[in-house]
Amino acid sequence: MTETQEWALCRKCRAVVYGKRLARNHGVCPQCGACFPLTAHQWLDLLADRDTLRLIETDLPAADPLSFSDGVPYTERLDQARQATGMAEAVVCARMSIGDTPVVVAAMDFRFMGGSLSGAVGELITRAAETALAERLPLVTVTASGGVRMQEGVVGLMQMAKTAQAMQQLDEAGLVTVCLITDPTYGGVAASYAMLGDIVIAEPGARFGFAGPRVIAQTIRQELPAGFQTAEFLLERGFVDLVCPRARLRERLGRVLSVGARRNCPGNVGPAEQVVIRDPDRLAEQDAWQAVRRARHVGRPTTSDYLRLILDDFEELHGDRVGGDCPAIVGGVGRLGRESVVVIGHEKGHTPAELAAHNFGMPNPAGYRKAARLMRLAAKWGMPVVTLVDTPGAYPGVDAELQGQATVIAETLRLMGGLPVPLVTVVTGEGCSGGALAIAVADRVLIMENAIYTVISPEGCAAILWKDSAAAPAAARALRVDARSLLALGVVDGVVPEPPGGAESDHPEAAALVRAAIRAELSDLATRDPARLVAERRARFRRFGGQSAPAPALSHPGGPQ
Ligand SMILES: [Zn+2]
Repeated sequence: MTETQEWALCRKCRAVVYGKRLARNHGVCPQCGACFPLTAHQWLDLLADRDTLRLIETDLPAADPLSFSDGVPYTERLDQARQATGMAEAVVCARMSIGDTPVVVAAMDFRFMGGSLSGAVGELITRAAETALAERLPLVTVTASGGVRMQEGVVGLMQMAKTAQAMQQLDEAGLVTVCLITDPTYGGVAASYAMLGDIVIAEPGARFGFAGPRVIAQTIRQELPAGFQTAEFLLERGFVDLVCPRARLRERLGRVLSVGARRNCPGNVGPAEQVVIRDPDRLAEQDAWQAVRRARHVGRPTTSDYLRLILDDFEELHGDRVGGDCPAIVGGVGRLGRESVVVIGHEKGHTPAELAAHNFGMPNPAGYRKAARLMRLAAKWGMPVVTLVDTPGAYPGVDAELQGQATVIAETLRLMGGLPVPLVTVVTGEGCSGGALAIAVADRVLIMENAIYTVISPEGCAAILWKDSAAAPAAARALRVDARSLLALGVVDGVVPEPPGGAESDHPEAAALVRAAIRAELSDLATRDPARLVAERRARFRRFGGQSAPAPALSHPGGPQ
């Protein structure tokens, strides 16, 4: 984009935009929404709460480790860049508040030698991380870079490892890290600190990747898919959590930071109303097949409905960081009362179009990898995990098998078994098979009055054992899938009552009951340390199938009688 004092030309829609109007619009073209690049100082101004910005002044490490020259000495090029930008290097660091949360921010500037990663840039990023570590503050990075600065050779390359280590130290300290990807972010910056944030946010249209399109075209001569390496393309493929326009950035970033940074306050849950039924005799008997039909009612609240109704400040997070964002599992961070929580659940939708869009609540491996990523985030941030179960099962398809469906389910079971934070599961609809259990290895497992939990769909069981899928009602009764039976079996710890007419008849009331039930369990779990949580969780699942029974009389043909 070209820019003058008075007027700027939008490279996307060719509109000539009045400079002051562009500035008021945070550098976003008022005609087409394209983002003009911002300088590092403009980014700091955009993100900071009023009057909170304080630059971190620091001496700059010596440059030119190779005495490099490509005809023009590197030191001369550095001087030119300094004169052109008024900056010492391609990054500026500051302390500030964003949405009332104090943070350290490192913002890059593409004008300074293409935002390239030099020894000094790596050093300033690392010092920003070390400042955040020392002061126990979140770190926010704003990236714009073509990659490692060639003029510093392998010393530049080493900055990738150095900054990745700095990010890891923040992980070990449980401090929140957020990376904001702006256009363009490539090469060594993309492949180090830009992708190591707990939360990765991208600007609309921002291009991001390791190898740029020109390199790919020149070396491999592959044709690039439409929208390749744009923020939206990367969101769909699970590499970024959200794509957020500039106008809403400070608000949404502030929300994520405040949920992440103010946590671990067990007293926050407070006393909760006891709504959970723990005695099977207090529950009316319900025919198991009737329960199956009610659990599948498309009018029942879905996970998205519950998230909207029970949480404050909810921010949905996307992607498994591996290659997908499964629509059959949704999750994110929010606040339950005053306590920050991570919530993850199966999502079905209501209308035929929604059901299709969410794959009927049947997750593919990317869904379980997303769930696992959010659970690890909860463990790092020290906040409880709530899971809501409603699935006919994990997606049974060729692609899901090729991407390791069994592996990801197994790994999620193992992860939950050792997660050092409180875990509460509510089966809200259909809890079917390993696809349900994969996110249900919790300290407390609750089920709603008209929900079911089963090893296989009654139709599937009937087809295999009865050789007749029409025998599904008989199979449902034999499998004891209804809430009352499950409570008697000890598979669930309690039953959440539903409004008269069922959850489908009154979403707000159903959500209020679920909310009260979760709060009561979290309040009870809040006093336990991680070792006790894990030990009790393991004991909870260890006991199934472990009860002693009289030894069966067996006859062994050919053996001793
Ligand atoms: Zn435009």
